[in-house]
Amino acid sequence: MTQIIRSVGVIGAGQMGNGISHVCALAGIDVLLQDVSEDLVKSGIATINGNLARQVAAGKIPESECKEAQARVKPALTMEEIGGVDLVIEAATEDEDIKKAIYSKLCPVLNPKAIIATNTSSLPITRLASNTDRAGQFIGIHFMNPVPLMQLVELVRGIATEDSTFETARNFVTSLGKQTAVSEDFPGFMVNRILMPMINEAIYTLYEGVGGVAAIDTAMHLGANHPMGPLQLADFIGLDTCLSVMQVLHDGLADSKRPCPLLVKYVDAGWLGKKAGRGFYDYQGDEPVPTR
Ligand code: NAD
Repeated sequence: MTQIIRSVGVIGAGQMGNGISHVCALAGIDVLLQDVSEDLVKSGIATINGNLARQVAAGKIPESECKEAQARVKPALTMEEIGGVDLVIEAATEDEDIKKAIYSKLCPVLNPKAIIATNTSSLPITRLASNTDRAGQFIGIHFMNPVPLMQLVELVRGIATEDSTFETARNFVTSLGKQTAVSEDFPGFMVNRILMPMINEAIYTLYEGVGGVAAIDTAMHLGANHPMGPLQLADFIGLDTCLSVMQVLHDGLADSKRPCPLLVKYVDAGWLGKKAGRGFYDYQGDEPVPTR
């Protein structure tokens, strides 16, 4: 039996959790948003409110719709508070131990009928599902960044995902106005398996001194007609997320190319991209400035 999703718990109020909450609220779904601290939840909700208001200013949605959507997103400061939702979307940091710890706290308090989805970019759905009490009701719903703008959502079934879970997830994503692409559960799914090696190669191109940040981005923007260069895109994704995905691809596909040491160095420095104010570009001034 497929279910209609009327309420969603979003775990992780970072850039993806914000975006997912935003599109759910606009689609009329109640959202409870959670993170590790009240401040992070508040700042997530402030971002959502600001982005919705920007859509009003741009003439994309009416003021009334914005206000209704804003009222639908509420903070959840404990796991128990999200126990009654129809669907939980876990959008926490790309770290398997963090995700496992979340499921072990979530499962005992979650409505037995609820579906758990992960927004992971690369971790195996089947393995994450095995850390829950409901592998049949577990699925990968992989939104793209920034969620309000990007049309695609990858749907990834684990080996045990039931047909009803898959159909419920597909109907839910369609109700958000997004297109789905169905991927098998292999490292990086489809988008990141293809995209991340290109980003990693762009970082090697920088590391080996073939070109600077601006030259590499201009080359791919104007030379390959990509909407933005790969280093700018890496900054938008988050360099910690890029490194995690590259590690999963390297381990899972035995690719000869390892994550570029320069990517590791940027992550070690905390230069995680736009969300940290600095990555391959420095975002602290009016215009992004290349850091190399
Ligand atoms: P982010 O760093 O912006 O946000 C992650 C959030 O998770 C942070 O606010 C962090 O405090 C929170 N968090 C960490 N541990 C937590 C816990 N135990 N409970 C609740 N919250 C916790 O990262 P992001 O870019 O939003 O990525 C989140 C997930 O989405 C990752 O799995 C990532 O792979 C995936 N994803 C990212 C992108 C992208 O382009 N950035 C695209 C698709 C999917």
